[in-house]
Amino acid sequence: MPLSHMPRIARLDLARIELPAEHPAADLGRSVDVFGFLIDHPDGAILVDTGVGMGNAFIDELYRPTSLDLRPLLAQFGVELGDVVAVVNSHLHFDHCGQNPALFGGATAFYAQATEIEQVEADRFYTDASWALAPQPQRRSLHGDEQIADGVRVLATPGHTAGHQSVLVEAAGRRIVIGAQVAWDRSEIRSETASRANVDQVAELQSAAVESIRRLKSLQPEVIHLSHCPPYTPAG
Ligand SMILES: [Zn+2]
Repeated sequence: MPLSHMPRIARLDLARIELPAEHPAADLGRSVDVFGFLIDHPDGAILVDTGVGMGNAFIDELYRPTSLDLRPLLAQFGVELGDVVAVVNSHLHFDHCGQNPALFGGATAFYAQATEIEQVEADRFYTDASWALAPQPQRRSLHGDEQIADGVRVLATPGHTAGHQSVLVEAAGRRIVIGAQVAWDRSEIRSETASRANVDQVAELQSAAVESIRRLKSLQPEVIHLSHCPPYTPAG
């Protein structure tokens, strides 16, 4: 069913991290914001990404994260953890799934691409698996696009990772996209390029990243929200 009005979509300032000098995006600035997003949907709140988790000594040492607890952040919008019916993880790197565990053991559905879950299971250095992998009953493993609520669609947008996904919210003739890390910075969306900061120099992922950017732009959304930089808008 279509949504009769655009739900409130709020950016959550979940964390800041310090990129190590050798990180591919370090040239663009060492101190990086980590944003998540709240879609205040009439059928229950949907979160896109949950920031950096707490208590991983390796990540604390390497990235020096300052993380804010999800509960008070949501409370600012009158939302409680128990109101969250779904979490969409754009991908499962440590800075996008860190507070997933706050919602483990309940009924919240966790959406990630199957490719992304396979990466976590295959490579123990990919992320913190205890944050990334929801308990089986809560796990929704996707193969491409999927409608997850009225007016809310997950779109496979590979590039930054093979299993990266974005979210399209559509209501009353309006479209808003949460592009997450489909690009590092909005300039890449404007120029339709896959920067080294955001995409490894792997030919398939580079071309996939550009295709993903073009795909999101072709939807003509009023805004594309990003994980680490201000949003892209067509006008400026
Ligand atoms: Zn990432």
